[in-house]
Amino acid sequence: MPLKLHDTLTRSDRAVTPLDGKTLRFYCCGPTVYGPAHIGNFRTFVAQDVMRRVVESSGTPTLHVRNITDVDDKTIRDSQKAGQTLVDFTRGWTGKFHADCAALNLLPPHVEPSAVAHIPHQVAMIGKLITSGHAYAAADGSVYFRVSSFKDYGKLSHLEDRELRLGASDAASATDSDEYTKDSLTDFALWKARKPEDGANHWPSPWGEGRPGWHLECSAMILEYLGEDFDLHSGGVDLIFPHHENEIAQSCCSTHGKFAHHWMHVAHLMVDGGKMSKSLGNLYTLEDLAKRGYSAAEVRYVLISGHYRAPLNFTMHSLDSARQALQKLAKADKALSSLSPSLPISKSPALFQDAWETLLHDLNVPGALGAIFGALNKLKPAALSAEEAASVRGGLHFMLHALGIHLPPVMEDTAVEVPADIQALAQQRWDAKQAKDWPAADALRKQLEAAGWLIKDTREGFTVLPL
Ligand code: AMP
Ligand code: ZN
Repeated sequence: MPLKLHDTLTRSDRAVTPLDGKTLRFYCCGPTVYGPAHIGNFRTFVAQDVMRRVVESSGTPTLHVRNITDVDDKTIRDSQKAGQTLVDFTRGWTGKFHADCAALNLLPPHVEPSAVAHIPHQVAMIGKLITSGHAYAAADGSVYFRVSSFKDYGKLSHLEDRELRLGASDAASATDSDEYTKDSLTDFALWKARKPEDGANHWPSPWGEGRPGWHLECSAMILEYLGEDFDLHSGGVDLIFPHHENEIAQSCCSTHGKFAHHWMHVAHLMVDGGKMSKSLGNLYTLEDLAKRGYSAAEVRYVLISGHYRAPLNFTMHSLDSARQALQKLAKADKALSSLSPSLPISKSPALFQDAWETLLHDLNVPGALGAIFGALNKLKPAALSAEEAASVRGGLHFMLHALGIHLPPVMEDTAVEVPADIQALAQQRWDAKQAKDWPAADALRKQLEAAGWLIKDTREGFTVLPL
């Protein structure tokens, strides 16, 4: 059974199967390397990593391309502030990004092209767009895409024409006051003529010195590494408009292909009801959280624990819950490993078939995690033969690999914090028992066990322990 994934363009869940029948070829818009990526950025990269792992675990190889944006307004501005060349500045932040990706257990992309290294490819694409009448050079040497020349513009973001105009004029006034040379407000820059504040960061082109507009790099690098048609394209929801809409326009008007055949967008990581972002200053990096004692594995668990299409609110409490969940998994694995010490390589989820099928349905990670805990809670390791334990353990590791979860060492003697809702349920069960309402007390005990908690009655009352 192949993965079914929601497609932003058709607004339907569609099977993710390779166009060439062999390899799933996909592109993810990568980081802008002018500072450390925050865990909001990583929510998107981690969701894409789970998608890739699930496809590969289903038996389909992938070709994963993710770019590095190493030239734009922000990289130029901040490299100058830092007194470094653009190349030295962005190289440093690219290194930091790679280190964070490794800590989060992200599989490295097969190709990671840089925008600066592909300026001739971008210039060639602009040339084709001008020749075919989809772009025009302004008097100052900037080149714009003529949005009115592409009838499908706006299909991905499902925006009305009026809204498109509003969105583009907002973006223009916020980012570039020079855009008055455009024929229409919605037209966007393919090439930006050299300005004094660009410093040494300009390249030659038939229209004069300058640098490419941000949207163009992805279209040019996709053509180079994935061709005119490819399987899937992905980014955070903030990229749907205008970035992905503009990529489609550039690519479809300069090639004969359909561009991406499937669009996957990841909802935002939020803090206090707002999107986590550098401009709002409400961000956390892996380093910030490490200082508070949280590991990258715990951060990854939090990032996957909400469905990728729903906004996820980040709290410190969610990291504590992730620590407990990882401990439960590690303890279950340890119990199984005492019966089956060598880890069998499994190509199937075995006991965790329900969890696997849940995951295949639009990457429902929270549902899959719930199904894994449900299956583990029912399991009595002591009653298993070595062969059965090996099969369960192999299946568990098949699922952990698909989710990219590395188990931490088991913490033996640490006091486990009981969540407030579990404590309240345990109290209700105790009250039912005191009232001799045995069916209610039994039902509540079962409910607690299903959530992974065991009640032990003592002379003084009760204690709650993790299963
Ligand atoms: P950037 O480095 O700004 O180009 O962003 C890299 C990726 O992170 C893009 O796919 C963005 O859509 C995504 N992104 C940015 N902020 C968030 C957030 N708060 N939650 C999830 N993804 C985000
Ligand atoms: Zn892009």
